[in-house]
Amino acid sequence: MDPWEAIEEEIRTCRRCPLHAFRRNAVPGEGRRDAEVMFVGEAPGRVEDETGRPFVGAAGKLLTSLIEGMGLRREDVYITNIIKCRPPGNRDPEQDEIRACIPYLKRQLALIKPRVVVALGRHAARTLFEAAGLKWRSMAKDHGKPLAAELWGVKVHLYPTYHPAAALYNPRLKESLERDFENLARFLKGKRRGTLLDYL
Ligand code: SF4
Repeated sequence: MDPWEAIEEEIRTCRRCPLHAFRRNAVPGEGRRDAEVMFVGEAPGRVEDETGRPFVGAAGKLLTSLIEGMGLRREDVYITNIIKCRPPGNRDPEQDEIRACIPYLKRQLALIKPRVVVALGRHAARTLFEAAGLKWRSMAKDHGKPLAAELWGVKVHLYPTYHPAAALYNPRLKESLERDFENLARFLKGKRRGTLLDYL
């Protein structure tokens, strides 16, 4: 079986943690399977649980417009979450749920091998920093700064920023989020130029 089909099928039928009992649909993720940029949020919300697709509610609309603002299409990137099933009432994921679910993200990352992993929100950022053996401080201190890291054997730049859901009703956070995406676009452009120069 194709490794992507295998992962998605395992996620859709997974019972590794108690969240399987609450879901309507598990949400494996979607997008380019050789994407340069992978976006990792915290967990599916209500609309995601209903549709089985990541970031399709109001926060997803904002994320899509931020991606387009970078000159990319949503289909050019890969979008997923740390946790693939919705926690009841959108509560924070628990550590044992993260531990149970993280092997799926690890396999997705190994297949995609992105250059940049954007951690959306502090739960995703803390989990990814810890997985890379880095100390997580806070979103206020670390957002919008690309950090070279090795994540489960894949060399990436980790890029933490605010979760779009947090920015929906907070104009100050939305401004920070928009600036972080502008910086991310510049960073990607710089990296592409650097790669090209390596070949000249
Ligand atoms: S959250 Fe992850 S580990 Fe838990 S049931 Fe869903 S897919 Fe399995």
